[in-house]
Amino acid sequence: MNHLLSRRTFILIPTMSILKRFFKPIKVLASSLASKEEWNLSKDEWKARLSPESFYILREEGTERAFSSQLNNEKRKGVFHCAGCSLPLFLSDKKYDSGTGWPSFWDSIQGSIETKVDFKLIVPRTEYHCSRCGGHQGHVFNDGPAPTGKRYCNNGLALKFVLD
Ligand SMILES: [Zn+2]
Repeated sequence: MNHLLSRRTFILIPTMSILKRFFKPIKVLASSLASKEEWNLSKDEWKARLSPESFYILREEGTERAFSSQLNNEKRKGVFHCAGCSLPLFLSDKKYDSGTGWPSFWDSIQGSIETKVDFKLIVPRTEYHCSRCGGHQGHVFNDGPAPTGKRYCNNGLALKFVLD
């Protein structure tokens, strides 16, 4: 028995390390690049502009805790801007309660966001970010309501709400 176990371990360990090498999640950029030169700020410049929490989300692709943002319950008429560069990203009439605990929208303002696929949870997800400063906003899923069927799941700390 012992002999069998050690033989199995002997085979298993090298196999695991080979598998790990092939299935290592692909490293994504810490944040997306700004499309406008004036928003191509250094890490220290971003740190000076943002709260530590917003920096973590916008510039390091972090995620806030579910139900932690006041914007989750924001139902007034207005515009949601990027907390990094103030570009308008979402209108309040496209916001809906997804029950996930994050501000959710079924559509974005045209041209305001860009997407990329990330593998942070190994399973590919579509990350999206502000098209101007590259700041990470959230992930978009295909389980949203009509007419788009999209669910833009956004971090509240990556947004600034401006009342109409
Ligand atoms: Zn921005």
